[in-house]
Order: sequence, then structure tokens, then C-alpha cells
Amino acid sequence: MSIEPLLSLGSHWLLLTLGDVLRYAVFASLTWLLLWRLFARPLARRRIHPAPPPAGQLRTEFLYSLRAVAVFSTLSLIPAIIAKAGLWHGPKIADSWGPLWFWASLVLMIVAHDAYFYWVHRLAHHRRLFRRVHHRHHLSRNPSPFTAYSFDLGEAVLMGSFVPLWILIVPTSWTVLEIFVFHQILRNTLLHCGIEVMPARADGRPRFDWLTTTSHHDLHHARGGWNFGLYFTWWDRWMGTEHPDYHRHFATTVQRAAPPANAAPAA
Ligand SMILES: [Zn+2]
Ligand SMILES: [Zn+2]
Repeated sequence: MSIEPLLSLGSHWLLLTLGDVLRYAVFASLTWLLLWRLFARPLARRRIHPAPPPAGQLRTEFLYSLRAVAVFSTLSLIPAIIAKAGLWHGPKIADSWGPLWFWASLVLMIVAHDAYFYWVHRLAHHRRLFRRVHHRHHLSRNPSPFTAYSFDLGEAVLMGSFVPLWILIVPTSWTVLEIFVFHQILRNTLLHCGIEVMPARADGRPRFDWLTTTSHHDLHHARGGWNFGLYFTWWDRWMGTEHPDYHRHFATTVQRAAPPANAAPAA
């Protein structure tokens, strides 16, 4: 048997992994540098926790995230193998369906991923699964951008299965997939960044209340039984799993607009 197909799959896996690692490392590090270093002073009033997470936590999260990325890349080989066998033409079909399908498939993919994440996440919180599947992610009580992929092996498999499943079932162009992945990592790092970055209305409610916020997901890390959503607040509201104190928590964070009374005046 020729080893050429194996070598080609191996190099494909390596390329996928390097691309995913780079994307994760760039997004997480940039978010960290911008929010916790470069703009630390103006954003100090929007911190959810008074102190940043310790450096040891960031290192551990980074290493577990690398493992998760390796799992994602391994799962992405499934469509590659099926395509090599000539049994999958999803991207070509998607391209032939024109620009309307391009944008519709992007929106559909994001909405479907939000639903997938909500239900898989709720399942991962089942007492029979939690310790084996989702415990690692919840060790980050004070999340950082690096928490985004800090998963147990089982969680990495569950979370990494969505993309291969979706693109095998629904014709999706490669560009849509790229945009989806960028949106996913951007929202994911922001959910864990420890600083509320979403704009607020004058009454302290989120400007876009249908989107999840950093405070929304932070409450999930603090009290696991609530706020399972990823991009949108829809499923938590439909299923009654949004934390009753969410809006108060958000308002408290963003309305730290006035510096504390005993703070030194800005130079
Ligand atoms: Zn999280
Ligand atoms: Zn959770």
C-alpha cells in the first residue's frame, strides 16, 4: 500500500493545525495585549474582576487550547478524506448557488452553531458528564482570552464536531467557512476577556441585548447552571436559563463609569 495518501493527509493536518494555532494565538494574545495592557487604564472601569488572572493560569489555558486545536484539526480531516474519495462537493455546489446563498449560508451556520453550542453545553453540564467533559473549562473562574479553547479532550471533540458535520451536510463555500471561524474565535475570546466590551444603553442594559456579552458568559463561569449561550441570548431566554441577575451584573460592570471617590484625578 502506498504511503503517499497518508503523507498528504499528514501535511494537510499539519497545515490545518498551524493555521488554527496561529489564529487562536493571535486573537487571544491581541485581545489580551489590547484590553489588559495597551488600554488597561481606560478599560479598568469595565473590568469584571478587579485583578487579571495569574500568569500560571494563562499558560495552562494556552497549553490545553493547543491540544483542543489539534483535536479540531484531526476532525477536519474527515471532510478532507471524503473529498479525496470524490464523495463531497459541498464548496463547489455552494459557489454555484450564488451570492444570496453565500450570505444566507453564513447566517444559517452561525445561528445553527449557536443552537448546537447551547444544547451540547447544557449536556456537558449534566452531572454524569461534567467532570469528564467540561471540568477543565470551568477551572477558569476568572476567565481570560486564553480560556476560549481550554477544554477537556471530550469537550474538544464535541465542540470540534460542528464544523465538519455542518459542511458535510450543508453546501458551504470555503470563504463562508473562513468568515465563520474568524467570527467564532473573535466572539469566543471576547466572551472570556474579563472586560465588558459591549456598548450599554443609558439605563445600563446591553445596547444589543440579543447578543451575549462578557458579563453574560462570566456569570456562567461563576455559577455554572445559567447562561449556556454562545453568540445570542435567545436560547437562554427561551429555555429560562438566563441568570436572573444578568442585567444587574452587566449594569454594575458598565456603570463603573465614574471613578471611585478616593481615586487620584487623571493626569
Ligand atoms: Zn467559557
Ligand atoms: Zn459551562
